[in-house]
Amino acid sequence: MNTHVSDNIERVNVVGGGLAGCEAAWQLARRGVPVDLHEMRPARRTEAHTTGHLAELVCSNSFRSRSLTTGAGLLKEEMRRMGSLMIELGEAHQVPAGSALAVDRERFAEAVSERVSSLPGLRLIRREIDSIPPGLTIVATGPLTAGPLSERLRELLGAEHLYYYDAISPVVTAESVDASVAFRASRYDENPGDYLNLPLTQAEYYRLVDSVVEAEKVPVRSFERFFEGCLPVEEMARRGRETLAFGPMRPTGLVDPASGERPYAVVQLRQENREGTLYNLVGFQTKMTWPEQKRVFSLIPGLASAVFVRYGSLHRNTYINAPRHLLPTLQWRGGPRLFFAGQITGVEGYIESAASGLLAGVNAARLVSGGKPVTPPATTALGALLNYVSDPGRRDFQPMNVNFGLFPSLPFKTKGRRKKEFMAERALRDLERWWLDCGEGPSSTAVREA
Ligand SMILES: Cc1cc2nc3c(=O)[nH]c(=O)nc-3n(C[C@H](O)[C@H](O)[C@H](O)COP(=O)(O)OP(=O)(O)OC[C@H]3O[C@@H](n4cnc5c(N)ncnc54)[C@H](O)[C@@H]3O)c2cc1C
Repeated sequence: MNTHVSDNIERVNVVGGGLAGCEAAWQLARRGVPVDLHEMRPARRTEAHTTGHLAELVCSNSFRSRSLTTGAGLLKEEMRRMGSLMIELGEAHQVPAGSALAVDRERFAEAVSERVSSLPGLRLIRREIDSIPPGLTIVATGPLTAGPLSERLRELLGAEHLYYYDAISPVVTAESVDASVAFRASRYDENPGDYLNLPLTQAEYYRLVDSVVEAEKVPVRSFERFFEGCLPVEEMARRGRETLAFGPMRPTGLVDPASGERPYAVVQLRQENREGTLYNLVGFQTKMTWPEQKRVFSLIPGLASAVFVRYGSLHRNTYINAPRHLLPTLQWRGGPRLFFAGQITGVEGYIESAASGLLAGVNAARLVSGGKPVTPPATTALGALLNYVSDPGRRDFQPMNVNFGLFPSLPFKTKGRRKKEFMAERALRDLERWWLDCGEGPSSTAVREA
């Protein structure tokens, strides 16, 4: 930690004292850069936060798996090696949770608040920001960004490039879909082969619809409203047993080559990433609980052994069209002195948000000292995630958790756990080399795995 902060060094504005903003502020301060951290709570609340603490966890208290053979476990290890405050304090305030890193949310948020507010050169300013401050700035206002600032962002980015709602369909790995069931086709043979289609008989369709209706759901929060054009799959199923067969599961324009006939209903899988390793279930946004999604969607022919890398959800979420607006350094394409970090960049989850804050902080500090911003290699968990959010070729952008489906393939064939072990080894090796090349290393390399 650099404890001396010179008055001659440019101050950086960090807007939002959540996981991303606090991590960014920490990375700046430890490099001797003074920070103005703007947080509107407690005077102005969001719909989900209940305290005035920095880095409040709004829902679960889990930072997910610690295993290096999961995307979340690997990302945490990378963050730890890069000196993440959220990981340090998460580990210091952990509670027993098997192979996951879960934290005592109150103690964790208190510890972050205490550590961040006493950083040398940091001014914690408790007020709502309603326009982007002048000067070098990191916007990290999260999924519940306050209204006036959202309006300014709409003006800056274009109304069609700021989203307020997240309707996420589940995503599965391509290799876990049963290829003997799925057939490639697009409706009426437009762009043939773009979709993977899973055909259902009438009996299979009814079994699925009934299970969707009966499945356990996450309660709808008072501030959540659904759009008619984007209803949860269970709401469509509840409205009538045939609703889905006339909606996202309609078989119109599709013929199953195995039977030569039009199926009763179809689940369409749309390619999710450039590499074609991930597919989403079109129209299956849902508020079913994660275990129920696994159970119910496994009833779909072809998905009995599917590996779900992301479950479906629906909630209010402010995020920008990052592929259009962000560089992988997290700088705005329209001006290098504006950074975005956290969930507003289209990453999804506590640790993903904090990790993007880490890089935004490192890069803003590099700009202040006349250096060049950097991006981690695409073979690392953080690099793969940033590659996903900032890929300008991506259409229909939706937020994403870190997962192995985002990583570039290995140069040799291997499957299952071994494949993830190889990817994790490659990630940590490449991270080490890159961090040293950036003049930031060596990192802390003692691996911690549950
Ligand atoms: C209801 C809900 C539940 C979620 N549950 C989970 C979960 O269980 N697990 C998980 O991994 N992820 C969850 N997420 C997703 C996400 O990971 C978290 O929201 C995470 O906290 C995002 O980090 P962040 O730093 O980007 O935003 P936040 O942690 O939300 O921090 C943003 C901060 O900016 C402040 N702010 C907003 N606007 C302004 C302004 N104009 N001026 C000044 N300050 C402002 C806010 O008060 C807040 O403190 C959830 C999201 C929501 C909305």
